[in-house]
Amino acid sequence: MKILVTGGAGYIGSHTLILLIESGYEVVVFDNFCNASKESIKRVEKLVHQSIEVIEGDIRSRANLQEVFDKHKIDAVIHFAGLKAVGESVAQPLKYYDNNVNGTAVLCEVMAKNNCKTIIFSSSATVYGDPATTPILEDFPLSATNPYGRSKLMVEEILRDLYVSDNEWRVVLLRYFNPVGAHESGTIGEDPNGIPNNLMPFIAQTAVGKREILSVFGDDYETIDGTGVRDYIHVVDLAQGHVNALDRVVNFKEPMTINLGTGQGYSVLEMIQSFEKASGKKVPYQIAPRRAGDIATCFADPTYAKEVLGWEAKKGIDEMCADSWRWQSNNPNGYRGLI
Ligand code: NAD
Ligand code: UDP
Repeated sequence: MKILVTGGAGYIGSHTLILLIESGYEVVVFDNFCNASKESIKRVEKLVHQSIEVIEGDIRSRANLQEVFDKHKIDAVIHFAGLKAVGESVAQPLKYYDNNVNGTAVLCEVMAKNNCKTIIFSSSATVYGDPATTPILEDFPLSATNPYGRSKLMVEEILRDLYVSDNEWRVVLLRYFNPVGAHESGTIGEDPNGIPNNLMPFIAQTAVGKREILSVFGDDYETIDGTGVRDYIHVVDLAQGHVNALDRVVNFKEPMTINLGTGQGYSVLEMIQSFEKASGKKVPYQIAPRRAGDIATCFADPTYAKEVLGWEAKKGIDEMCADSWRWQSNNPNGYRGLI
């Protein structure tokens, strides 16, 4: 089976390529490299000992996408391509609706035209807004507090509508919790542009000496130690969730919406502590005010993923921190130092 991986040069996409290839799938990467480096693909090629077909293009371009389908008989699409910075989405909402929502609509249009009707979509736990209780089940109420989150909700609705219009579509909506970690080789990992928004890359860059001090956003939440609690999931476990979804997708007779999380929440202070243990480095931090829009606690009930995908997260917090550290310490400037 040949799989088109949009956004395949990015953080989650690059890790997923490895597991897809190891599972016997053929892959074609489609990426415009707006938030990725070609070096990530080169590193994946080294890990899997084969070359990877990459087509540079934008999901908003029918012509760019048609080029892929003219060249390849694609059986299914894993759709990672999208913008993901919450703050930027507040400042530039149209950019997010154009890229994430319009881009997905164009992708689906070109897929249908070429009779490819299987899509696995990267959704997010952000669609649960501020949940009334945890752990979070898939049927919890949905809401969004920023344009990024709304773009994910909109795409979920679009893909469900598409199935209603034509039930040959096979749709899997994977709601990721907090992806962290890196491939155990330490050669691929998360490479954020500029100052990281997310906790784990900020911790890693502080430990390696690139940032002076980590700001802990709030210590007065109703949590174990007052700091925010999240469900961190190793990116390789997350990648495996996509392979399992692909393996089973022909059997899914209706759109599937599935949480990918560990079911375990950790606080910011617990993450710092685990990272210090894994790296042997001090992570200096200061308590700062709460970050606007943050919630206290978010973690998944991953039971459904186990039931329908036969999937559960295997890697714990120590492995997440050790692998993040290996990537960060081997590549203090991410992919940039080497291009
Ligand atoms: P990433 O930025 O590393 O990867 C996204 C990739 O898509 C990049 O390689 C980028 O160059 C490409 N891209 C963006 N717009 C494109 C376009 N118009 N045409 C072609 N390529 C385009 O992000 P990631 O962390 O790997 O996330 C992958 C997906 O998972 C995204 O849709 C993201 O919203 C979603 N997600 C991520 C997280 C997270 O914390 N990382 C959490 C939940 C959901
Ligand atoms: N966080 C923090 N300092 C940072 C970045 C994040 O204290 O520099 C906290 C944040 O308030 C939240 C947790 O770490 O409680 C995870 O934040 P992240 O942005 O990684 O994920 P999200 O908030 O999107 O779940």
